[in-house]
Amino acid sequence: MQDDRFMMTGYRDEDWDHDLSLRPRNLREYIGQDAVKQNLTIYIKAALGRRDALDHMLLYGPPGLGKTTLACIVAAEMGQNIRITSGPAIDRPGDLAAILTNLNAGDILFIDEIHRLSRAVEEVLYPAMEDYALDIMIGKGPTARSMRLDLPHFTLVGATTRAGQLSAPLRDRFGMVFRLELYSPEELAQIVKRSSSILGMPADEEGIIEIAKRSRGTPRIANRMLKRVRDYAQVQADGKITRTVANEGLNLLEIDALGLDKVDRNVLETMIDKFGGGPVGLDTLAASTGEDALTIEDVYEPFLLQLGFIQRTPRGRVATRAAYEHLGRVMTSLEGEEDPQLSLFDENQ
Ligand code: ADP
Repeated sequence: MQDDRFMMTGYRDEDWDHDLSLRPRNLREYIGQDAVKQNLTIYIKAALGRRDALDHMLLYGPPGLGKTTLACIVAAEMGQNIRITSGPAIDRPGDLAAILTNLNAGDILFIDEIHRLSRAVEEVLYPAMEDYALDIMIGKGPTARSMRLDLPHFTLVGATTRAGQLSAPLRDRFGMVFRLELYSPEELAQIVKRSSSILGMPADEEGIIEIAKRSRGTPRIANRMLKRVRDYAQVQADGKITRTVANEGLNLLEIDALGLDKVDRNVLETMIDKFGGGPVGLDTLAASTGEDALTIEDVYEPFLLQLGFIQRTPRGRVATRAAYEHLGRVMTSLEGEEDPQLSLFDENQ
């Protein structure tokens, strides 16, 4: 399904066109996430030295940060094949059993959105991860018996946007758990630079920085913006991406100087205008903005939290002074945050 909003999480068709060429193929090309890379380098070297499969690995963090890319890199660095699937695609335990029995020793099995596996499917995964075994039932009723099949030593790489939703038994079976962080503008500039040179687009340093600054810490968004700015440059300018061209192209997409799009602003404006800045619960916020609660939580909130525009409190989300200032609103009073100007005013009365 296509979605015309810019920040949407899923792939769009256009992503596939250049995805393969833009995806870094090894750890050296993978920009940022230094702590994760450092650890992985050691574990991969050790597993290769032992000629053993790598331990199972869980990657978590907001969409578009490079979890699938990292899984493919792990397979490449280990010199093994990768099989890619996702939680919602594995309907029944039999589907997973079929995937597992088709793996070869050392293969990487990547399950995206692993938090969406059903309980019944998850239970097939436990012995597979722990003992490389598959328990199957033969026959029905009183004559039914269970049989254990051996599986090859494979590596499961699970990815999720919400580690908190993973059941404890599943989480405990991962030997490595890595959290991917939002990227810094400098790292994103490197990514945009790399992508523009792969795609053969002339771009100057300032144009690259402008795109990087507005891509809300996310490589997938940076690459998408680059392509849109390229279109703009081609049609409205002389084909080169400069700061002015990037600025104009991104303004046309209604992405502001910090990278906020219409939905981000709608979320903040709703909090401020309808709920006096909060606290407001996630579901109420979702209903008032017409957005899906999970999308707000997974896609929009991480960046708004990082900018310090909202805070999560036990009673709900609160818009901060920085959010008011960014939207050009005046903060009168705010629950949960002491307003120094207001208290000064009070004292003078
Ligand atoms: P996720 O699986 O976390 O949703 P992906 O692995 O699909 O994210 O990454 C989205 C896109 O961003 C990829 O196509 C890739 O081109 C780019 N990308 C992600 N991480 C990096 C990185 N560290 N360096 C360069 N490009 C990256």
